[in-house]
Amino acid sequence: MRFTHETLPQRVVFARGEAARGVAAEVEALGASRVMLIASEREAALADPVASALPVAVRHEEVVMHVPVAVAERARAVAAEHEVDALVSVGGGSTTGLAKAVALTTGLPVVAVPTTYAGSEATDVWGLTEDGTKTTGVDRRVLPRSVVYDASLLTGLPPDLAVASGLNAMAHCVDSMWAPRADPIDRALAGEGIRALAAGLTGLAAAATDSDAADAADVSGVEETLYGAYLAAVAFASAGSGMHHKICHVLGGMFDLPHAQTHAVVLPHVLAFNVPHAPEAERRIAAAFGSATALAGLAVLRERLDAPRSLRDLGMPHDGIGRALDPVLAAVPDDNPTPVTADAVTALLEAAWAGEEPA
Ligand code: NAD
Repeated sequence: MRFTHETLPQRVVFARGEAARGVAAEVEALGASRVMLIASEREAALADPVASALPVAVRHEEVVMHVPVAVAERARAVAAEHEVDALVSVGGGSTTGLAKAVALTTGLPVVAVPTTYAGSEATDVWGLTEDGTKTTGVDRRVLPRSVVYDASLLTGLPPDLAVASGLNAMAHCVDSMWAPRADPIDRALAGEGIRALAAGLTGLAAAATDSDAADAADVSGVEETLYGAYLAAVAFASAGSGMHHKICHVLGGMFDLPHAQTHAVVLPHVLAFNVPHAPEAERRIAAAFGSATALAGLAVLRERLDAPRSLRDLGMPHDGIGRALDPVLAAVPDDNPTPVTADAVTALLEAAWAGEEPA
């Protein structure tokens, strides 16, 4: 073996039902006494118990998906005005993303409390948008110092959002099998991530259809999905973006598609395209699903979850396929397992747009 793997320094706390206590301990360990607590209006009720255990100097609610630069600048001004010494985010990837944007220019430490399966909390990647263009970058300052996972905060996540967000995490795992910097450690993390996500999401779907069995199974399913989402993000942060993420990034930016749902639709098509030339990924993914093939394992899970199927339903125009072609061809890494051609990408996008089963 010849590879170099970098492990990001971060404390990870799983504390079911105890986010408030867990976050208070992390903030105290940082020596912070003036916290800026970031949570959107929709996430406020989840953040209230966390806030009550902290020395909060200011709460900030203006959270917008993909972090517009103006939104980031207003949050930075609030942090400066209140002389905060730590940032605590309670919310989905958009909320974590805003805390990262503040950390990027201030160096303030972040304690993240995720309430979706997006995984941003475990990466050192930031994203900002301006004039419809999303810019991403890597900076160690944005990596949250600590993450506190409390499954009880996700039991109210609407089922469609839970499914899309969970499949977004699954996409982090799958792309980590062949992304440009993928190494054996990433693949091991991604394999365990796929197993945990499939088990957790299946548990969630079962609990949703059987209300008698709901509560306990629900929290266990959420917790296993969160664990999988964390592994997925760690693998992805190390391996980088592969074909799947490059396609979703182009489509999301051009047509303003919902982030997690776009991943859920595109993933089986990229998997089908790549596995014929990625036998090790095929073996690992199939083993993680406990299925005969990687594609069959993903198909069974998507069926169980009633996952979104078509880009058309997400609002992408049909002529968008032609418009997206060149940017996708330019973005897909050269070492993608299956050689990428214009005809192949067009066929893949046509199938994903129409909601056809992957070839
Ligand atoms: P999101 O954060 O926009 O949340 C979606 C909606 O769900 C919001 O309205 C939010 O208020 C609500 N919500 C969140 N948690 C909830 C809960 N527990 N119960 C009820 N409602 C809840 O969506 P997301 O998919 O979590 O994050 C997407 C964003 O994260 C994108 O901008 C994406 O680019 C970014 N992201 C970044 C990275 C990274 O490494 N930088 C990784 C993954 C995602």
